Amino acid sequence: MYKLENVSKKYNDKYAVQNFTLTIESGSITGIVGKSGSGKSTLLKLLNFIEQPTEGQIIFEDKAINDASKKVIRKYKEKIGMVFQNYNLLNNLNVYQNIALPLKIINKEDQHKVNELIQFVGLEDKAKSYPSQLSGGEKQRVSLARALVRNPDILLCDEATSSLDENNTETIIKMLKNINHEFNITIIFVTHELSVVKQLCEKVCVMEDGQLLDIIENRNKSAEK
Ligand code: ADP
Ligand code: ADP
Repeated sequence: MYKLENVSKKYNDKYAVQNFTLTIESGSITGIVGKSGSGKSTLLKLLNFIEQPTEGQIIFEDKAINDASKKVIRKYKEKIGMVFQNYNLLNNLNVYQNIALPLKIINKEDQHKVNELIQFVGLEDKAKSYPSQLSGGEKQRVSLARALVRNPDILLCDEATSSLDENNTETIIKMLKNINHEFNITIIFVTHELSVVKQLCEKVCVMEDGQLLDIIENRNKSAEK
């Protein structure tokens, strides 16, 4: 899916990501873990094509993105769903409307799809509730459904469980495993919480000072599949 070859990203002469080489297989669940300031956000911005590498290259689906046109990059971006730590829901839209929004924007409304996802995340009885009426765990389930509504190939999770308690974290982890398994969606989960990626990921990349310090193969997780 992705091949990063000696990728670096520099801001004002300082490397946020340095000499990063990694292959992310289609259908895998990869964890990226590191302390604050280790370069995780920057790596995410490279993976969702918001930033371009200063050096090195990213191959996405066998094509080098360094020389891809804006139009092609836009196409690639459509294949990616994002989940954030703070949910990023619109407060004046209810659960149904929040999940439907990415479809509405491109004039491809699909009630059936939205209802299916509401069911998938177990929020049938909250479809008409507004974000202010939901718990953190429920908000993250809405955010997950919204990320899936355009059938992405990849789900990028940015500290997706970092605002949640243990129970809700477990629920989200289970859902992500299901999503990976049932829809064959590649998942990249970025976090400072090592315990979460250990439960979820087959492969965990440890970042420090912008560099890939270590790759941990989580055999138990691979065996589960
Ligand atoms: P993390 O997400 O792990 O906290 P970041 O990718 O946000 O790490 O940051 C890595 C390093 O790059 C930090 O030293 C940060 O200050 C720096 N950095 C990140 N984004 C920018 C930017 N847009 N401009 C300048 N420096 C940045
Ligand atoms: P996180 O740890 O979640 O990355 P930060 O507070 O480090 O949160 O960063 C928030 C945003 O600001 C990110 O988009 C990051 O890329 C950007 N950023 C981080 N450090 C700097 C910096 N030194 N200069 C400019 N932008 C930065």
